[in-house]
Amino acid sequence: MPTAAPAVVTVTGAAGTIGYASLFRIAAGAMLGHDRHIALRLLELPHAVAAAEGTAMELEDGAFGLLDSVDIFDDARQAFDGAEYGLLIGAKPRTKGMERADLLAANSAIFAAQGAVINDVAADDIRVVVVGNPANTNAAVAAANAPDVPANRFTALTRLDHNRAIAQLARRTGAPVREISRVCIWGNHSASQYPDIFHAQVGNTSGAELAADERWLVDDFIPTVAKRGTAIIEARGASSAASAANAAIDHMHDWVLGTPAGDWTSVAMASTGAYGIRQDLVCSVPARSVNGQWEVVEGLDINAFSRGRIETSVAELEEELAAVASLSSI
Ligand code: NDP
Repeated sequence: MPTAAPAVVTVTGAAGTIGYASLFRIAAGAMLGHDRHIALRLLELPHAVAAAEGTAMELEDGAFGLLDSVDIFDDARQAFDGAEYGLLIGAKPRTKGMERADLLAANSAIFAAQGAVINDVAADDIRVVVVGNPANTNAAVAAANAPDVPANRFTALTRLDHNRAIAQLARRTGAPVREISRVCIWGNHSASQYPDIFHAQVGNTSGAELAADERWLVDDFIPTVAKRGTAIIEARGASSAASAANAAIDHMHDWVLGTPAGDWTSVAMASTGAYGIRQDLVCSVPARSVNGQWEVVEGLDINAFSRGRIETSVAELEEELAAVASLSSI
């Protein structure tokens, strides 16, 4: 029997493609379990409210037993009031001719404002996953503007990269996805990310054995994972949406309900200083969910190859954070 109080789930950019692909599965129980009622709060920009209303009509037509309510807002303070779960998807897309610095500036302003609102009105134990890019730095900016919320409540999505890495290993070896564990994405959700298989188990083979084919690792596996988003845009004529939504749901599901025994996942979270990563960064690391909290998997032996790749991606995160700090939104 479902428990009484609905979980308050706020989704920003709800009328966008990832938002659209997320909402129906959240309403169906894929994120918080099939015994948890949901109150959905959709945040959109004023011009997209009508589209969000159309999505809400479709949600109603889904007649989801777990869905208690759907409310639409163009005001963040109302949308995050009492929010226990925040999927921060809405962000300004990078348009033609826009430099990375322009994107950082536009989006850090959005996430600074949302962090401050979350600080003021959300539930004390809110869990946030930032999907909107540049996701790691947006999460750091939101956390810095929410001083009363523990920084570990703000995470960014690298689960799609993690899932993509698993899928590529399955393709390479023929091992079923369910027999692949302990893959990890390190660093930034960007082309500099490092998908690490040195600790993985892939069916009956160890990831380290597969990684011994360095040519495949460097020229095929790593770039295929890191550039998968671009390949999908080329094939579909639009960026990945359902797989990004699926990953955001996986991320929140495991955070709340736990990672499978013996495995871990990849989470961009406030650095604890583990592996020498600077503490103000939101950096992807191997993580387990223990009693509803993400914990870094510590003590992995990082070889020189991995160390170099991780340092490159961490350096990019440092640059992004320095760029937004100079805009004084953090
Ligand atoms: P999408 O729903 O496709 O994407 C939203 C964000 O997710 C973008 O930052 C995008 O980054 C990122 N993203 C896309 N694909 C992936 C992926 N595979 N992995 C991780 N992140 C990914 O964008 P739409 O333009 O369809 O929708 C955005 C919506 O947000 C619009 O409806 C807009 O009105 C709304 N919006 C809401 C705001 C708010 O609520 N305050 C603020 C700004 C916008 P990238 O661009 O790099 O692909």
